[in-house]
Amino acid sequence: MDKRTFIKISGLAGAGLVATPLVSSLIGCGAAPEPTPSGDITGFTLPELGFPHEALEPAVDRQTMKIHHGRHHAGYVKKLNAALEGHALQGRPLEDLLASIQADDTALRNNGGGHFNHALFWTILQPPTQSEDRAPSGVLAERISSSFGSVETCMEALATAAAKRFGSGWAWLVQDPQRRDRLFVTSTPNQDNPLMAGIVPAESQGRPLLGIDVWEHAYYLNYQNRRGAYVSALMDRIHWGAVAGLMA
Ligand code: MN
Repeated sequence: MDKRTFIKISGLAGAGLVATPLVSSLIGCGAAPEPTPSGDITGFTLPELGFPHEALEPAVDRQTMKIHHGRHHAGYVKKLNAALEGHALQGRPLEDLLASIQADDTALRNNGGGHFNHALFWTILQPPTQSEDRAPSGVLAERISSSFGSVETCMEALATAAAKRFGSGWAWLVQDPQRRDRLFVTSTPNQDNPLMAGIVPAESQGRPLLGIDVWEHAYYLNYQNRRGAYVSALMDRIHWGAVAGLMA
């Protein structure tokens, strides 16, 4: 799956979100599940990986990728579609859903987040054989520099957020919805993400540009309890062009 595909499935596409930096502008546009000719809503589908399962080795091993994408992500998609059956939010674009989910709507919260987070995750990673966009450049580099001082400091903040997240969750690089030149790092538990305006605290809300999955399913086969080693190896696999492409 390439960046374009991710933007399409997630609903990040649309002129409104480029023109306005508010989170509210990120919703209500882009791809909703397609109705069939009979009027049924087919639901969300598992996006393909843009590379073979072994392509991220040695940072992420083949077996982990196979299970992570084919079982975990596929499971979130399946359960998301089941949770949407007859739900008031059925048929809405994914980002719109995420912004509208209430904290006690557990099935939608966990599986809607699970689908979005993993779709983003596959997009911002690249095999070591790929040599493009190995470091931030252009506007993204400028924004990282003005927000953190340097790329190194930004990466340290991400690694710290990933290390400190207790239990399962994600560390994020986020774009401020009010001031688009301001980027910040935050983390969320479970499958929550910065788009969930009804759930995550205001200081964590914004436009997710890069997510680090720190669930044990993302690294345990190869790294066991060494989360830091996994995060460090993963940081070398970031496709910074894809990250830049998600900015408003
Ligand atoms: Mn995961």
